[in-house]
Amino acid sequence: MAEYRSDLPPRPERIARLPLDVRGFPIPWFVWVKPDGTPDFRVIREHGIAIAYKKQLCWVCGEKLGRYHAFVVGPMCGVNRVTSEPSCHRECGEYAAIACPFLTKPLAIRNERGLPESAGAAGQMIKRNPGAVLLWVQKEPPKPFRVDNGHLFRLSDPVELRCFSRSKPANIEDVLYSVRTGMPLLAAMAKKDGPQAERALRQQAAVFDRILRESYVHA
Ligand SMILES: [Zn+2]
Repeated sequence: MAEYRSDLPPRPERIARLPLDVRGFPIPWFVWVKPDGTPDFRVIREHGIAIAYKKQLCWVCGEKLGRYHAFVVGPMCGVNRVTSEPSCHRECGEYAAIACPFLTKPLAIRNERGLPESAGAAGQMIKRNPGAVLLWVQKEPPKPFRVDNGHLFRLSDPVELRCFSRSKPANIEDVLYSVRTGMPLLAAMAKKDGPQAERALRQQAAVFDRILRESYVHA
């Protein structure tokens, strides 16, 4: 039996109930476990998104969600309000944001070789390392909507917003920097969709700016 890694932060109770892989990492609920018992952290379990959403289970620990819906998302998701994954407990999200952002980002990987088809979630993924992750906490479940290759979720206004970079709480400047450098990517996508999409993006960016100033919990 592997021991919980000493280089990881202390675990909340629900995370402590998760099984560990051979390296001592907790295996999040959403992870696909191969028939031979080894987890593939890059791949979402079969029907994972639908099951978690319908049964209102935490994406990270798999237990029933409570009052709050938390998301560990890239800063640009704060602008376009879209995420590919259902919600998790606040503590589970915080743990994931600190322990390893990639634990909750099966598609945020640099090595995509050997991935089965449709390994991850729907939508267009922004393939860059955001350098910072947002912990976005809201009171309502996210609203699912259909896209060509599956479902995505729309985020409501957050009641709490924090940011982590390299496993530590980040400054608001780090978030702003990440948004500034990611904006051209969103702008390019909006440009393809036409002037209405470009206008909508400008509005979204302004709203996120306001939310950051109102809800951000400073490091
Ligand atoms: Zn949880």
